[in-house]
Amino acid sequence: MTRVKAYAALSAASPLQPFEIERRELREHDVLVEILFSGVCHSDLHQARDEWGDSIYPMVPGHEIVGRVVATGAHVKKFEKGDLAGVGVMVDSCRVCRPCENFMEQYCAEGMTGTYNNYERDKVTMAQGGYSKQIVCDERWTYRISDTLPLAGVAPLLCAGITTYSPLKFAGVQPGQRVAVAGLGGLGHMAVKFAVAMGAEVTMLSTSPSKETDARKLGAHHFALSSDRATMKKLESHFDAVVDCISGVHNYDPYLKLLDLEGRLLVVGLPQENPRVDPFELINNRRSITGSMIGGTVETQEMLDFCARKNITADVEVIPMDYINTAYERMLKNDVKYRFVIDMASLH
Ligand code: NAP
Ligand code: ZN
Ligand code: ZN
Repeated sequence: MTRVKAYAALSAASPLQPFEIERRELREHDVLVEILFSGVCHSDLHQARDEWGDSIYPMVPGHEIVGRVVATGAHVKKFEKGDLAGVGVMVDSCRVCRPCENFMEQYCAEGMTGTYNNYERDKVTMAQGGYSKQIVCDERWTYRISDTLPLAGVAPLLCAGITTYSPLKFAGVQPGQRVAVAGLGGLGHMAVKFAVAMGAEVTMLSTSPSKETDARKLGAHHFALSSDRATMKKLESHFDAVVDCISGVHNYDPYLKLLDLEGRLLVVGLPQENPRVDPFELINNRRSITGSMIGGTVETQEMLDFCARKNITADVEVIPMDYINTAYERMLKNDVKYRFVIDMASLH
């Protein structure tokens, strides 16, 4: 066991604070990664504050991890000491169920092992995340990282990136299609970049008028304020897909209305309260709602390679570890452009 410095939430009400955790001795397929950057996902905030009602404490959040391999287990094939490596939202699964056999481990029949706020497969050891100096992870859930991209901007690909890439691929987004992205935050800005890279005509739907210029810089062809009734009316039955990347409480109806024949509402946002769905909006145009959870290990590597080829990374604001509680408050005010990433060198 190695003791490692970290930042943890000790309860739903307490701010994050310095903490120490233990990382296990390397098993045969384990990689030890010295964490360089750790992205800050809104799921970190939801869970640190127990907004989904399933939190376990003490909790070290963080599931957008990039760093350098410092040691490898005896049978590791994928990595050598000194390689860059990434770890995302999960670190293990049952490995034998149908989803696991098909590398969709996030849908593991027994439940995937989350990087934090979860127990390991032994059901006893608490998994702890990336707001820490080092992590030990099985090589299957550890990804190769290109050395051509800026590393701080790569970290958010491990959650915000794969979470938006996977549903767009699943929906078969292609040139000529119209895609809207709702919520310009960490996930939303990656959804815009990916939908544009896949050739779609992209509209940003936002509650923040100040984000229009940025949305266009990110590649969106159009921008609409979701509070502007006239514009939302004009956009009814207009899109093949709407990606819901919204963290706050909202209803699906206004977004369902925007879908054209057999259009899909691709849901990735996970607000604290259940959204309302009007079945009349669903039957009209034979619309559907498709949820999507991160992406499997093979698809995550595919997404990272796609980003390296297309030069895609997240737009980040790099922060020191002790800024995390302020960062959470700013996230709640929709004031992040467009992902906070912790420079782990700032944690001493
Ligand atoms: P974020 O950076 O905080 O961005 C969320 C954005 O949603 C905000 O910037 C804002 O954009 C919009 N928004 C917030 N409250 C709203 C409301 N009440 N009504 C309408 N729009 C609102 O969050 P994130 O890290 O991208 O995460 C987004 C959500 O996805 C979170 O709920 C998170 O837990 C979830 N998530 C899911 C998965 C998955 O596997 N499915 C993975 C990761 C995260 P505008 O200013 O443009 O309105
Ligand atoms: Zn996340
Ligand atoms: Zn499984």
